[in-house]
Amino acid sequence: MMNTKEKDSQYIMHTYGRYNVALKSGKGATAYDEDGKKYVDVASGIGVNSLGWCEDGWVKAVSEQANTIQHMSNYFYCPQASNLAEKLCTLTGFSKVCFGNSGAEANECAIKVARKYSFDKYGADRNEIITLNNSFHGRTVTTLSATGQDVFHNYFFPFTQGFAYVDANDMNALENAVTDKTCAVMLELIQGEGGVNILDKDYVQSLVKFCNEKDILVIVDEVQTGAGRTGKLFAFQNFEVKPDIFTVAKGIGGGLPIGLCVCGEKLKDVMSPSTHGTTFGANPVVCAGANYVLDKISKPEFLSEVESKGKYIEEKVLKMDGVKAVRRMGLMIGIELKDGDAHDIAAKCVENGLIIITAKSLLRMLPPLNITKEEIDLALDILEKTLKEN
Ligand SMILES: *Cc1c(COP(=O)(O)O)cnc(C)c1O
Repeated sequence: MMNTKEKDSQYIMHTYGRYNVALKSGKGATAYDEDGKKYVDVASGIGVNSLGWCEDGWVKAVSEQANTIQHMSNYFYCPQASNLAEKLCTLTGFSKVCFGNSGAEANECAIKVARKYSFDKYGADRNEIITLNNSFHGRTVTTLSATGQDVFHNYFFPFTQGFAYVDANDMNALENAVTDKTCAVMLELIQGEGGVNILDKDYVQSLVKFCNEKDILVIVDEVQTGAGRTGKLFAFQNFEVKPDIFTVAKGIGGGLPIGLCVCGEKLKDVMSPSTHGTTFGANPVVCAGANYVLDKISKPEFLSEVESKGKYIEEKVLKMDGVKAVRRMGLMIGIELKDGDAHDIAAKCVENGLIIITAKSLLRMLPPLNITKEEIDLALDILEKTLKEN
């Protein structure tokens, strides 16, 4: 009989390099593999299990909903989806939500909203979207196009037209790239996959001001930074700007697939029946989980703990051998190493019982937002030991 790894190799397309571990169960920030070995987790999947593994209230919300009504088509009203949309709009001061199932889909929706707004107002030619070099916006053909990294622009030609790329933190470059065809700028405020690059606050504020004046829409991709990760509900609140559209996915479902595109007053009526949709979007089980997550993480005490836990981790990590610098906002943490390959070190950490991820040449932590002090200390002990071995 084949084991999990052998079956995976034989029957699953090899789109991922995996660690040699098959996870079986988890609680909080602790998981166990098929052999019973224990791991402490500072990755949350990739920023997905925002309340850790199998948090009691989340499990209850999801299982009760699964036992009540598990799906309905989008031709019916769904109370869980309406509640989630209302909550999100009320908490952020935004106006309307469109539901999907992933970060890439949320960004696709944002791109469609931006292009339709511009089409309705200025005609078909004003359709170009500027994104930043080193960004990451997803794996569909259009969001690969939006992603400002050449390595992603391969194999799958032809890519979607209408994207231009500029360096982050360079207002001149942005101003020079804008033409009368530009309809939007799309950016992450912290480039997650790109190496936890925190954009300059001044730049972000100037960019929003500049775009507002030209009726160029600002789309903030909060797929990774959203849902409490940076110590505010959304990172744009840390940067003190209000985009026209933001997208959120990963952490907001607490472990179930969801992607939301959220727009402000100006765009709330751009999309009309049959301009967008997806079968599984606004699924009641997923929304029940997300409602639970949002209730929990939106409390000011909870968010301030996200920041204080992040600060605690930063201070301890900075004292470790082999660490050059830490890039951090809330519990979104990139660790610059003096030397050594981040992927090798992450693999050694996993062997030593710490689940940690990488971003370019950095180690990256996206711990469960409710991780305990004990779990943090255990994780940091393993990291320190692993860095010493390196
Ligand atoms: C992960 C990520 C995406 C893609 O999300 P998927 O759910 O994998 O489609 C898009 N943008 C950012 C910033 C991300 O971190």
